[in-house]
Amino acid sequence: MAPHPLGTRLGTLAVHAGEAETLAVASVNTPIYQTTTYRFDSAADAAAYLDAPEGKWLYSRLENPTVVAAERKVAALEGTAAACAFASGMAAIHAALVGHLKAGDALLVADTIYGHTTRLARTLLGRFGVEIVEVPLDRLAAAALAAPPHARALLFETPTNPTMRVVDVEAVAAACRRRGILSMLDATFATPVNLRPALLGVDLVIHSATKYLNGHCDHLAGVVAGNREVLAPVVEVRRVAGATMDPAVAYDLMRGMKTLEIRIERQNATALRLAEALERHPRVDRVHYPFLASHPDHALARRILRGGGGVLSLSVKGGYEPCARVHDALRIVARASSLGGVESLASIPVISSHRNATPAELAAQGIDRGLLRVSVGLEDAEDLLADLEQALERA
Ligand code: PLP
Repeated sequence: MAPHPLGTRLGTLAVHAGEAETLAVASVNTPIYQTTTYRFDSAADAAAYLDAPEGKWLYSRLENPTVVAAERKVAALEGTAAACAFASGMAAIHAALVGHLKAGDALLVADTIYGHTTRLARTLLGRFGVEIVEVPLDRLAAAALAAPPHARALLFETPTNPTMRVVDVEAVAAACRRRGILSMLDATFATPVNLRPALLGVDLVIHSATKYLNGHCDHLAGVVAGNREVLAPVVEVRRVAGATMDPAVAYDLMRGMKTLEIRIERQNATALRLAEALERHPRVDRVHYPFLASHPDHALARRILRGGGGVLSLSVKGGYEPCARVHDALRIVARASSLGGVESLASIPVISSHRNATPAELAAQGIDRGLLRVSVGLEDAEDLLADLEQALERA
């Protein structure tokens, strides 16, 4: 056998043999580029990176091919020029805000938004001199039009957790544009299957990709999508703050997104089936689901959403105690927070996502102590209905 070009010593061979040859294989799937760093052929090559980094590779906090592939898939689904992937949804929200705000700016934030987003805005950005203006959900467009001159961005969500309120996204985006305010929408609950906010004028679309985009409750992930100019400061925060997505996670996220449309179609259909059946249940006061005629945003939801989504909330008659009994009696639906996976999950907002909300905040958001939130998975719809019905017998 011919000697290896690197010689015969095992230490060197163990580190380098087989590695330098790039195996360019026509793989159907994008491989996981499990590397932190990349080889340059020469000093000239290394120097050229800084002159024009596009399409070149230096270090995986800055760029990684598997992560770039996942970002391109998100951008294609959202109809944006680009996207930027993060280690979690909160890292994505943080980068969007920190990338665009500075001391002395005001941030308009919807009053009905994920609890940690409110905390991030109030406690973290507040410390750095950003004024936080909380705006009721039904006044977002009006608040943008009447915003003070130092208002820089407006952050909102739709559908909202846990009552699935739907905002007129196009009207809010148009109002922001008129005032030169950036619109940022956390569209985690909608997914690009049910809503494509950038096509309605939203500047930055944010997802906790932990939920539906990845879809399997096995990774934390976040994305921000938008045009290159608006995304650039967000990318810069990721590059220097470092909350980037791991390439192995990017691979799984891409695999998850391949089935996004069929998962969401099924989850839309199952959630609507459960919502319609449970609305008539004698132990249920009310079901919050945007595609029910009884939902306050029903007409708007039918106009702007392709489906009502995979989450519904039931108000169990009698308040917290009966609701907790229903929760504890579930057999198929897992008692767990989060949403968007293939397994159905149930949680009680007043002891989980909304534990720290004041009675006034709960009332303003229409959340009662008997509310049970259900994230519908891919189980058979009739089995899920039977599970919820047998649990409701314990109410
Ligand atoms: N946005 C929404 C609407 C969420 O529900 C969540 C998490 O529950 C987040 C953001 C935060 O995402 P992550 O948990 O991936 O950081």
